[in-house]
Amino acid sequence: MSELRTTRAPPAEATGDAHAAPPSVVLVSHDDTLAGELSVFLRGNGFVVERATSPVEIARAAGRSAYTGVLVDLDAVAEDQLTTHLHRIAAVRPRTVPLFGLGGGTDLRLQLDAIRCGVEALFAKPVDPTAVADLLERRLRPVREDPFRVIVVDDSRATADFVKGILEQAGMVCRTVDEPLATLDAIRDFRPDLVLTDLYMPTCAGPELAALIRMHPGFLGIPIVYLSSEMDPDLRIEALRQGADDFLSKPIRPEHLVASVQVRCQRSRLLRSQMLRDSLTGLYNHTTLKDRLESEVSRAQRSRSPLCCAMIDLDHFKSVNDTHGHAVGDRVIVSLARLLRRRLRKNDVVGRYGGEEFALLLPDTPLDDARVVLDSLREAFHAIPQTGVRGPFSTSFSCGVAEFLPGESAESLNDAADQALYRAKAGGRNRVFADLGRRLTETPTTD
Ligand code: GH3
Ligand code: MG
Ligand code: MG
Repeated sequence: MSELRTTRAPPAEATGDAHAAPPSVVLVSHDDTLAGELSVFLRGNGFVVERATSPVEIARAAGRSAYTGVLVDLDAVAEDQLTTHLHRIAAVRPRTVPLFGLGGGTDLRLQLDAIRCGVEALFAKPVDPTAVADLLERRLRPVREDPFRVIVVDDSRATADFVKGILEQAGMVCRTVDEPLATLDAIRDFRPDLVLTDLYMPTCAGPELAALIRMHPGFLGIPIVYLSSEMDPDLRIEALRQGADDFLSKPIRPEHLVASVQVRCQRSRLLRSQMLRDSLTGLYNHTTLKDRLESEVSRAQRSRSPLCCAMIDLDHFKSVNDTHGHAVGDRVIVSLARLLRRRLRKNDVVGRYGGEEFALLLPDTPLDDARVVLDSLREAFHAIPQTGVRGPFSTSFSCGVAEFLPGESAESLNDAADQALYRAKAGGRNRVFADLGRRLTETPTTD
């Protein structure tokens, strides 16, 4: 096992990257109860929170730490003072720092005033701390989008390279294919956002290629766009009947090509992410997880690098629902999802396996490292203050983790993690159980 590489990078939070630094907000409110509860919740979810009661204090807070958002309690001042109050606050905060309002009742005129003063969003009272954390998370910790990925199919290598050059200059990542039949393998391997193909090619015409791609259910969502000088409308429509989405005419100005491809890639990502992700948590759904498990297992097999699979299940979750109601239960699920997203690396795969169960795939991570990561997640989750109908409470999860054994199937790795989870539950819950026995008793195959 000693030849296995370990390249486990630090989590996003620890890299010191400006995008990954914890969002810090200034909370402007005179309401001690509201400010206290919201601060505890936000801090528990990884935010830095400073309290202020006036513009002067905001300016002071700015001197101490670079904050990235301001939350203003709109009910803290008399109605006729609100605009002045908000203008003062807006004036002391840097222009790029967004303002959010708490309260404001149902008076549309007051809400309009707030919007005119630069307030981006309003949270009605009683304030739902999860909704605040979700929005702050999205707005203040923008995820840097991966560049769009495009496959360019053309029997003329020179044309394909030319198109590739234009798209890459605009920041996209391209792969060229000059033998149309090799496109299916390229799609599997490269996972493009879009396929751009020539219409007339000797071994397989563009429309035939589109029909072939569409025969694979997994590739139904990938946009296929022809890039051709064919101007005959009948032929163009016939070509589109085969399952392609659009036609771009050659010659095309580079900026038009780039814009057309970008718009379609964006849309395809949005649609695909709705298909691939769970609507409550935004994490991968069960089907996607299974697909990713298969591909991570074959990657680990090929590259002979370590891979761990972990299963997480919330402890006594039925009683959380029974005590606090399903809505609070949902919030607990979302808080775990948020923690997992925040703490894991970009290459880790995180999904909701179903109900209150989650699965993680940790590439390039040997079992001992995975245990440390998972145990620190377990501790962090247990420390998150949850707000229930009968006051604050905390929850925990149990976790089973197993390391990939060369030669084994995705299913067998998943089963091993499941068995370990079962042992963690049986061992008392709120613990991580690693599948050590299997690692020691099975002999890895070597080639
Ligand atoms: P254990 O520690 O053994 O895992 O106990 P448990 O109560 O968590 O396990 P059990 O399987 O008995 O109950 C799981 C509960 O999770 C029951 C189900 O209603 C709840 N649940 C599953 N999905 C959701 C969901 O999306 N939202 C909410 N609020 N509850 C859910
Ligand atoms: Mg369960
Ligand atoms: Mg459970």
